[in-house]
Amino acid sequence: MQVFKEKEAARRWMFQQRCAVDAIGLVPTMGALHEGHLSLVRRSVRRCQATAASIFVNPTQFAPDEDLARYPRTLESDLEMLAGCGVDAVFVPDTEEMYSSGFSTYVQPPKVALRLEGKHRPDHFRGVTTVVAKLFHVLPCTHAFFGHKDYQQACVLEHMNRELDFGVDIEVCPTVRDADGLALSSRNRYLSGDQRSRALSLIRALRQAAERYQNGERSTAALERGMRAVLQAGGINRIDYATVVDADNLTSHSTVPEQPIALIAAHLGGTRLIDNLRLDTDSLATA
Ligand code: AMP
Repeated sequence: MQVFKEKEAARRWMFQQRCAVDAIGLVPTMGALHEGHLSLVRRSVRRCQATAASIFVNPTQFAPDEDLARYPRTLESDLEMLAGCGVDAVFVPDTEEMYSSGFSTYVQPPKVALRLEGKHRPDHFRGVTTVVAKLFHVLPCTHAFFGHKDYQQACVLEHMNRELDFGVDIEVCPTVRDADGLALSSRNRYLSGDQRSRALSLIRALRQAAERYQNGERSTAALERGMRAVLQAGGINRIDYATVVDADNLTSHSTVPEQPIALIAAHLGGTRLIDNLRLDTDSLATA
């Protein structure tokens, strides 16, 4: 597996691959890898003849009061995991390599970025669209793989890809969970034992909403009240949102839309967790 710290070397390798094979996959990550990340990598390795991953903790998507400085960095084991999955190349730039001094060009995110996360993390998606646009230029892939776990992020990037004509085939892969239902996240390692138990309220609330939807409940307010009650009963009091929206454009309606998705963002101590579940198609048993 090749490891590139510099943009030019990575780009050169990608262009060589593009001449040699039809499909090159890219899996962008911030490292601290877990089975969720690896599921994207395995999907790319199955789908494409060459796969590149990137590991970069992107400062432009963190607000000053967020966890950039303490974000887990586990490069050595990350590289071992990626090699074990059959990745061909990894791009691991440092911040100076990615952002030249005086950097001031950003990609304005699409409208879908304004809701939910956009309300609570105002510049977050601007950082995400900017860094992914840069990665698409440095690593000109044919396919890119993102997780359903960060559902709004995937929507934002699909819009950017379409509207700015990157021409990348984007695949959104299912959320990988621990056996008890907790969605895998690099931030789970911040949680104490007690916080981890309380964090299970997120999937409990989402599953309750899915069950009620599948039993015929069509009032958005009723489903949202139910989710909040489950979170609060589970000891989660700081809830950024617990909502049911249209999976296409993330808009809210008093009657549950035809393609409903429930999304939650909540805080456990100093850790902010997000999760989501499609109410119509996600199976309750395996979600
Ligand atoms: P991150 O390193 O958190 O930026 O995540 C990199 C990619 O992995 C993003 O596309 C995430 O949506 C995806 N991802 C993170 N957690 C999971 C998970 N539990 N299951 C599937 N994909 C995930």
